Amino acid sequence: MNTSSHLTSSTLTHLECSMTGERYDADQVWNLSPTAQRPLLARYDLKKAAQTLTRDSLKERRRDLWRYEEVLPVREQKNIVCLSEGGTPLVHAERLGKQIGCAQTYIKDESPNPTGSFKARGQAVAVSRALELGVKTLAIPSAGNAGGAMSAYAAAAGLPAHVFMPADVPLAFRAECNAFGAHLTLVNGLINDCGAKVREGVSAHGWFDVSTLKEPYRLEGKKTMGYELGEQMNWELPDVIIYPAGGGTGLIGLWKAFAEMEELGLLPKGGKRPRMVTVQSTGCAPIVKAFHDGNEHAPLWEGAKTIADGLRVPVAVGDFLIIRAMKESGGTALAIRDEDMMEYSNMIARTSGIFPAPEGGACLAAQVELLKQGWIKPDETVVLFNTGTGIKYAHLWA
Ligand SMILES: *Cc1c(COP(=O)(O)O)cnc(C)c1O
Repeated sequence: MNTSSHLTSSTLTHLECSMTGERYDADQVWNLSPTAQRPLLARYDLKKAAQTLTRDSLKERRRDLWRYEEVLPVREQKNIVCLSEGGTPLVHAERLGKQIGCAQTYIKDESPNPTGSFKARGQAVAVSRALELGVKTLAIPSAGNAGGAMSAYAAAAGLPAHVFMPADVPLAFRAECNAFGAHLTLVNGLINDCGAKVREGVSAHGWFDVSTLKEPYRLEGKKTMGYELGEQMNWELPDVIIYPAGGGTGLIGLWKAFAEMEELGLLPKGGKRPRMVTVQSTGCAPIVKAFHDGNEHAPLWEGAKTIADGLRVPVAVGDFLIIRAMKESGGTALAIRDEDMMEYSNMIARTSGIFPAPEGGACLAAQVELLKQGWIKPDETVVLFNTGTGIKYAHLWA
């Protein structure tokens, strides 16, 4: 790493439209690709990155996600807004594994992140890069955790933040935005209605829209989960990854990371990749439905309702990227009832000592179902993503 100079060792080269492959200048501010209106993906000079980003070099580095500096977009050290995001534990849940009959069950526990969820990874990178590109005001629609995470990084960066949340969002999510000094607006509706409010502010006041996958860099922060998983599993990826998808940024990020890691020589080319499983709630399952209907795009889910706020996302601009990752990996998708999320959240808590978000419980419920179906074999290695802490959903256990 380039610790002596003011430059980072980022090898960012350009942005690429995820639909058409068109290239865009990475040092300009972008939201969706202008022609296709789809997510832009950050691309790097991976040959160059491979010279320094090696299995060995990683042993000497800082713990947080900036350890993967070569494949992150921030060019100058001074723009990195860091609250020690990433570097979270991968827990071998032995008692849990025994109970469900799948000994190699691991939990990637994202709850120790700043603001209690993996949203910190995305916001750390997105806010840092926005600062670097001269953005003045940040705005975001949020179903829960993203708003708090953005508010924290905006506060650390000294940038004003506007957060739009559904009016019925639990207290903890609102409290966090207030504490960090964000301008919080409650909207009668869901996250997509909040997104419409953000777009009004963008046209009226020139705010920068930090909606997931509508700017290129939250994905880059979240992809670091894939690099960490590789390192923590000694470069042997699991058979199955189970991921609770809202907008799907984490799952798309994991899949992007695995591809990059092969190019970098961190993973063997054409080696085994995990089967990627998407979990949603039966009260809001647009991606699950589209996947099983054989569609690449998922229409808006009417009347979305679930206790898992992170999954209350009725429409996703990256729908086709989630579905492609599942297909390419031989994965699947399933929807879990809220009651089952609670039951399995308790099972995680009572066997592992991790207090999971209901989204984490949804992953375990999916694993148990897939074991029952024989889709997962008892001797396979499975990683569940506990994407946040249960503390922010304390009302569910009151
Ligand atoms: C946002 C969120 C999710 C969904 O994440 P995506 O990457 O947008 O699909 C899952 N769990 C929790 C706790 C979240 O906050």
